[in-house]
Amino acid sequence: MADCYLCGKRAVFRTEAGPLCAGHFSKWYEDGVANAISRYSMVNPGDRICVGFSGGKDSTVLLAALCRLNLDAELVAVTVDEGIGGYRDDTILAAKDTASRLGVEHRIVSFKDICGKTLDELLANSPQAACSVCGTLRRRALNAAAREIDADSIATGHCLDDESQSVVMNYLRGDVTRATASFNSNSGELFIRRIKPLCRSTERATVAYGLCNNLLVPLPECPYTRYALRKDVRTWLGKLEYEKPGTLIRIADGQEELLSKMPKAEGEMKILGRCEKCGEPTANRLCAACQQLERLM
Ligand code: SF4
Repeated sequence: MADCYLCGKRAVFRTEAGPLCAGHFSKWYEDGVANAISRYSMVNPGDRICVGFSGGKDSTVLLAALCRLNLDAELVAVTVDEGIGGYRDDTILAAKDTASRLGVEHRIVSFKDICGKTLDELLANSPQAACSVCGTLRRRALNAAAREIDADSIATGHCLDDESQSVVMNYLRGDVTRATASFNSNSGELFIRRIKPLCRSTERATVAYGLCNNLLVPLPECPYTRYALRKDVRTWLGKLEYEKPGTLIRIADGQEELLSKMPKAEGEMKILGRCEKCGEPTANRLCAACQQLERLM
Protein backbone atom coordinates (compact mmCIF):
# COMPACT_ATOMS: atom_id res chain seq x y z
CA MET A 1 0.00 0.00 0.00
CA ALA A 2 1.15 3.57 -0.65
CA ASP A 3 2.31 5.96 2.07
CA CYS A 4 -0.04 7.91 4.33
CA TYR A 5 -1.22 10.96 2.40
CA LEU A 6 -1.06 13.08 5.57
CA CYS A 7 2.40 12.24 6.93
CA GLY A 8 4.21 9.93 4.49
CA LYS A 9 4.49 7.00 6.96
CA ARG A 10 3.61 3.46 5.85
CA ALA A 11 -0.16 3.31 5.25
CA VAL A 12 -2.35 0.58 6.78
CA PHE A 13 -5.80 1.50 5.47
CA ARG A 14 -7.14 3.20 2.37
CA THR A 15 -10.03 5.64 2.97
CA GLU A 16 -11.96 7.49 0.26
CA ALA A 17 -9.67 10.48 0.85
CA GLY A 18 -6.49 8.40 0.54
CA PRO A 19 -4.24 5.92 2.37
CA LEU A 20 -3.60 6.48 6.10
CA CYS A 21 -0.92 5.30 8.56
CA ALA A 22 -1.95 3.57 11.81
CA GLY A 23 -2.05 6.81 13.81
CA HIS A 24 -4.03 8.87 11.29
CA PHE A 25 -6.33 5.92 10.52
CA SER A 26 -7.13 5.47 14.25
CA LYS A 27 -7.98 9.17 14.51
CA TRP A 28 -10.11 8.94 11.33
CA TYR A 29 -11.97 5.92 12.76
CA GLU A 30 -12.58 7.57 16.15
CA ASP A 31 -13.82 10.74 14.40
CA GLY A 32 -16.31 8.54 12.49
CA VAL A 33 -17.61 7.07 15.75
CA ALA A 34 -17.84 10.56 17.31
CA ASN A 35 -19.77 11.81 14.25
CA ALA A 36 -22.25 8.92 14.50
CA ILE A 37 -22.77 9.64 18.21
CA SER A 38 -23.44 13.27 17.42
CA ARG A 39 -25.58 12.60 14.29
CA TYR A 40 -28.04 10.48 16.31
CA SER A 41 -27.67 12.34 19.65
CA MET A 42 -26.66 9.09 21.31
CA VAL A 43 -25.02 10.44 24.46
CA ASN A 44 -26.12 13.13 26.91
CA PRO A 45 -23.73 14.71 29.42
CA GLY A 46 -23.39 12.57 32.54
CA ASP A 47 -24.95 9.46 30.97
CA ARG A 48 -24.24 6.07 32.44
CA ILE A 49 -23.77 3.73 29.47
CA CYS A 50 -24.12 -0.04 29.71
CA VAL A 51 -21.83 -1.38 26.97
CA GLY A 52 -22.88 -4.80 25.64
CA PHE A 53 -19.46 -6.41 25.66
CA SER A 54 -19.11 -9.94 24.31
CA GLY A 55 -15.32 -9.74 24.13
CA GLY A 56 -15.48 -10.22 20.33
CA LYS A 57 -13.92 -7.78 17.86
CA ASP A 58 -16.82 -5.34 17.42
CA SER A 59 -17.66 -4.84 21.08
CA THR A 60 -13.96 -4.69 22.00
CA VAL A 61 -13.39 -1.90 19.48
CA LEU A 62 -16.57 -0.20 20.68
CA LEU A 63 -15.42 -0.16 24.29
CA ALA A 64 -11.90 1.03 23.41
CA ALA A 65 -13.17 3.76 21.04
CA LEU A 66 -15.69 5.02 23.64
CA CYS A 67 -12.85 5.20 26.20
CA ARG A 68 -10.62 7.08 23.73
CA LEU A 69 -13.35 9.62 22.92
CA ASN A 70 -13.36 10.85 26.52
CA LEU A 71 -17.11 11.28 26.55
CA ASP A 72 -18.79 12.98 29.46
CA ALA A 73 -20.26 9.60 30.38
CA GLU A 74 -19.60 6.63 32.63
CA LEU A 75 -19.08 3.22 31.01
CA VAL A 76 -20.01 -0.15 32.51
CA ALA A 77 -19.24 -3.20 30.35
CA VAL A 78 -21.70 -6.09 30.59
CA THR A 79 -20.95 -9.52 29.13
CA VAL A 80 -23.78 -11.99 28.63
CA ASP A 81 -22.67 -15.60 29.08
CA GLU A 82 -25.12 -17.58 26.97
CA GLY A 83 -23.52 -20.89 27.92
CA ILE A 84 -22.07 -21.96 24.56
CA GLY A 85 -19.51 -24.74 24.98
CA GLY A 86 -16.14 -24.33 23.27
CA TYR A 87 -16.78 -20.68 22.55
CA ARG A 88 -17.97 -18.38 25.29
CA ASP A 89 -15.37 -19.26 27.94
CA ASP A 90 -12.55 -17.94 25.73
CA THR A 91 -14.37 -14.74 24.86
CA ILE A 92 -15.19 -14.10 28.53
CA LEU A 93 -11.50 -14.35 29.41
CA ALA A 94 -10.69 -11.90 26.58
CA ALA A 95 -13.47 -9.57 27.80
CA LYS A 96 -12.18 -9.60 31.40
CA ASP A 97 -8.67 -8.84 30.20
CA THR A 98 -9.74 -5.97 27.90
CA ALA A 99 -12.04 -4.36 30.48
CA SER A 100 -9.28 -4.49 33.07
CA ARG A 101 -6.71 -2.99 30.65
CA LEU A 102 -9.13 -0.19 29.78
CA GLY A 103 -10.05 0.37 33.43
CA VAL A 104 -13.79 -0.14 32.81
CA GLU A 105 -16.12 -1.74 35.39
CA HIS A 106 -17.11 -5.17 34.07
CA ARG A 107 -20.09 -7.36 34.95
CA ILE A 108 -21.10 -10.79 33.69
CA VAL A 109 -24.69 -12.08 33.55
CA SER A 110 -25.61 -15.57 32.37
CA PHE A 111 -28.57 -17.32 30.76
CA LYS A 112 -28.14 -20.03 33.42
CA ASP A 113 -28.80 -17.48 36.17
CA ILE A 114 -31.69 -15.92 34.30
CA CYS A 115 -33.62 -18.98 33.13
CA GLY A 116 -31.88 -21.94 34.79
CA LYS A 117 -30.38 -23.33 31.57
CA THR A 118 -27.50 -22.61 29.24
CA LEU A 119 -28.14 -21.95 25.55
CA ASP A 120 -26.63 -25.36 24.75
CA GLU A 121 -29.15 -27.02 27.10
CA LEU A 122 -32.06 -25.01 25.70
CA LEU A 123 -31.15 -25.93 22.13
CA ALA A 124 -30.53 -29.65 22.68
CA ASN A 125 -33.29 -30.56 20.20
CA SER A 126 -33.40 -27.51 17.96
CA PRO A 127 -29.95 -26.03 17.25
CA GLN A 128 -31.32 -24.41 14.09
CA ALA A 129 -33.18 -21.89 16.29
CA ALA A 130 -29.94 -20.83 18.02
CA CYS A 131 -29.57 -17.23 16.86
CA SER A 132 -33.22 -16.35 17.28
CA VAL A 133 -33.31 -17.73 20.85
CA CYS A 134 -29.87 -16.34 21.68
CA GLY A 135 -30.70 -12.86 20.39
CA THR A 136 -34.04 -12.66 22.22
CA LEU A 137 -32.64 -13.86 25.56
CA ARG A 138 -29.55 -11.67 25.23
CA ARG A 139 -31.69 -8.56 24.64
CA ARG A 140 -33.64 -9.35 27.79
CA ALA A 141 -30.49 -10.05 29.80
CA LEU A 142 -28.89 -6.77 28.71
CA ASN A 143 -32.05 -4.77 29.36
CA ALA A 144 -32.32 -6.24 32.88
CA ALA A 145 -28.59 -5.69 33.58
CA ALA A 146 -28.79 -2.09 32.35
CA ARG A 147 -31.77 -1.40 34.62
CA GLU A 148 -29.91 -2.93 37.54
CA ILE A 149 -26.93 -0.61 37.09
CA ASP A 150 -29.23 2.35 36.47
CA ALA A 151 -27.94 2.92 32.95
CA ASP A 152 -29.33 5.61 30.66
CA SER A 153 -28.52 3.65 27.51
CA ILE A 154 -27.22 0.34 26.19
CA ALA A 155 -24.43 0.62 23.62
CA THR A 156 -23.95 -2.33 21.27
CA GLY A 157 -21.16 -3.00 18.78
CA HIS A 158 -23.36 -3.25 15.70
CA CYS A 159 -21.37 -1.85 12.80
CA LEU A 160 -22.56 -0.68 9.37
CA ASP A 161 -22.34 -4.22 7.97
CA ASP A 162 -24.61 -5.55 10.75
CA GLU A 163 -27.13 -2.76 10.23
CA SER A 164 -27.33 -3.31 6.46
CA GLN A 165 -27.54 -7.08 6.92
CA SER A 166 -30.44 -6.62 9.34
CA VAL A 167 -32.33 -4.47 6.82
CA VAL A 168 -31.97 -7.15 4.14
CA MET A 169 -32.75 -10.01 6.55
CA ASN A 170 -35.99 -8.36 7.69
CA TYR A 171 -37.15 -8.19 4.07
CA LEU A 172 -35.99 -11.75 3.33
CA ARG A 173 -38.05 -12.97 6.31
CA GLY A 174 -41.01 -10.76 5.42
CA ASP A 175 -40.78 -9.36 8.96
CA VAL A 176 -42.62 -6.05 8.54
CA THR A 177 -42.73 -5.38 12.28
CA ARG A 178 -38.97 -5.37 12.60
CA ALA A 179 -38.45 -3.68 9.25
CA THR A 180 -40.49 -0.71 10.50
CA ALA A 181 -39.47 -0.76 14.16
CA SER A 182 -36.65 1.75 14.16
CA PHE A 183 -38.84 4.66 15.23
CA ASN A 184 -38.97 4.66 18.99
CA SER A 185 -38.31 0.95 19.20
CA ASN A 186 -36.90 2.04 22.55
CA SER A 187 -40.17 3.58 23.62
CA GLY A 188 -41.68 2.75 26.96
CA GLU A 189 -40.27 3.67 30.33
CA LEU A 190 -39.08 0.11 31.05
CA PHE A 191 -36.89 -0.04 27.97
CA ILE A 192 -33.41 1.40 28.13
CA ARG A 193 -32.42 3.48 25.08
CA ARG A 194 -30.25 1.53 22.62
CA ILE A 195 -27.34 3.20 20.89
CA LYS A 196 -25.01 1.88 18.18
CA PRO A 197 -21.94 4.14 17.96
CA LEU A 198 -20.30 1.96 15.25
CA CYS A 199 -23.37 2.06 12.98
CA ARG A 200 -21.56 4.18 10.32
CA SER A 201 -18.26 2.24 10.54
CA THR A 202 -17.66 -0.75 8.27
CA GLU A 203 -16.58 -4.08 9.70
CA ARG A 204 -13.40 -3.86 7.64
CA ALA A 205 -12.43 -0.56 9.25
CA THR A 206 -13.49 -1.83 12.68
CA VAL A 207 -11.22 -4.87 12.42
CA ALA A 208 -8.39 -2.69 11.08
CA TYR A 209 -8.79 -0.33 14.07
CA GLY A 210 -8.69 -3.31 16.44
CA LEU A 211 -5.51 -4.63 14.82
CA CYS A 212 -3.79 -1.23 14.70
CA ASN A 213 -4.43 -0.75 18.40
CA ASN A 214 -3.53 -4.29 19.55
CA LEU A 215 -7.03 -4.89 20.81
CA LEU A 216 -7.80 -8.21 19.13
CA VAL A 217 -6.82 -11.74 20.06
CA PRO A 218 -7.72 -14.86 18.04
CA LEU A 219 -11.02 -16.27 19.32
CA PRO A 220 -13.11 -19.29 18.31
CA GLU A 221 -16.26 -18.84 16.20
CA CYS A 222 -19.65 -19.58 17.74
CA PRO A 223 -20.56 -23.17 16.75
CA TYR A 224 -24.12 -22.08 15.91
CA THR A 225 -22.99 -19.60 13.25
CA ARG A 226 -23.52 -22.24 10.59
CA TYR A 227 -27.29 -22.09 11.16
CA ALA A 228 -27.46 -18.29 10.86
CA LEU A 229 -29.22 -16.66 7.89
CA ARG A 230 -26.96 -13.69 8.64
CA LYS A 231 -23.93 -15.71 7.53
CA ASP A 232 -25.28 -16.01 3.95
CA VAL A 233 -26.47 -12.39 3.85
CA ARG A 234 -23.09 -11.25 5.15
CA THR A 235 -21.23 -13.13 2.40
CA TRP A 236 -23.61 -11.83 -0.26
CA LEU A 237 -23.47 -8.18 0.87
CA GLY A 238 -19.71 -8.41 1.36
CA LYS A 239 -19.34 -9.44 -2.28
CA LEU A 240 -21.63 -6.60 -3.40
CA GLU A 241 -19.71 -4.06 -1.30
CA TYR A 242 -16.45 -5.23 -2.84
CA GLU A 243 -17.80 -4.99 -6.39
CA LYS A 244 -19.93 -1.88 -5.84
CA PRO A 245 -18.38 0.14 -2.97
CA GLY A 246 -20.93 2.11 -0.97
CA THR A 247 -23.61 -0.61 -1.12
CA LEU A 248 -23.73 -0.97 2.69
CA ILE A 249 -24.12 2.72 3.45
CA ARG A 250 -26.74 3.08 0.68
CA ILE A 251 -28.83 0.28 2.24
CA ALA A 252 -28.56 1.85 5.72
CA ASP A 253 -29.29 5.37 4.47
CA GLY A 254 -32.15 4.14 2.29
CA GLN A 255 -33.77 2.44 5.27
CA GLU A 256 -33.31 5.55 7.42
CA GLU A 257 -34.96 7.71 4.77
CA LEU A 258 -37.80 5.24 4.31
CA LEU A 259 -38.50 5.22 8.05
CA SER A 260 -38.33 9.01 8.23
CA LYS A 261 -41.17 9.20 5.69
CA MET A 262 -43.42 6.84 7.67
CA PRO A 263 -46.18 8.21 9.85
CA LYS A 264 -44.69 7.97 13.35
CA ALA A 265 -47.46 5.83 14.82
CA GLU A 266 -46.84 3.08 12.28
CA GLY A 267 -43.21 2.79 13.25
CA GLU A 268 -43.73 2.61 16.98
CA MET A 269 -43.58 -0.59 18.95
CA LYS A 270 -46.66 -0.63 21.13
CA ILE A 271 -45.55 -1.34 24.67
CA LEU A 272 -48.75 -1.98 26.56
CA GLY A 273 -47.59 -3.55 29.76
CA ARG A 274 -45.45 -6.13 31.46
CA CYS A 275 -44.91 -9.80 30.78
CA GLU A 276 -47.07 -11.95 33.05
CA LYS A 277 -44.11 -14.20 33.85
CA CYS A 278 -41.01 -12.03 34.14
CA GLY A 279 -42.32 -8.47 34.30
CA GLU A 280 -40.34 -7.28 31.26
CA PRO A 281 -42.08 -4.77 28.96
CA THR A 282 -44.15 -6.32 26.17
CA ALA A 283 -47.14 -5.73 23.93
CA ASN A 284 -48.35 -9.29 24.59
CA ARG A 285 -49.27 -11.48 27.56
CA LEU A 286 -45.76 -12.92 27.51
CA CYS A 287 -42.59 -11.19 26.32
CA ALA A 288 -40.65 -12.68 23.39
CA ALA A 289 -38.07 -14.26 25.74
CA CYS A 290 -40.70 -16.04 27.85
CA GLN A 291 -42.48 -17.21 24.69
CA GLN A 292 -39.20 -18.73 23.46
CA LEU A 293 -38.58 -20.35 26.86
CA GLU A 294 -42.09 -21.84 26.95
CA ARG A 295 -41.46 -23.47 23.58
CA LEU A 296 -38.06 -24.85 24.59
CA MET A 297 -38.50 -25.97 28.23
FE1 SF4 B 1 -25.76 -16.32 19.58
FE2 SF4 B 1 -26.05 -16.97 16.96
FE3 SF4 B 1 -24.23 -15.14 17.71
FE4 SF4 B 1 -23.87 -17.73 18.33
S1 SF4 B 1 -23.95 -16.84 16.24
S2 SF4 B 1 -23.57 -15.97 19.72
S3 SF4 B 1 -25.98 -18.39 18.72
S4 SF4 B 1 -26.48 -14.96 17.89
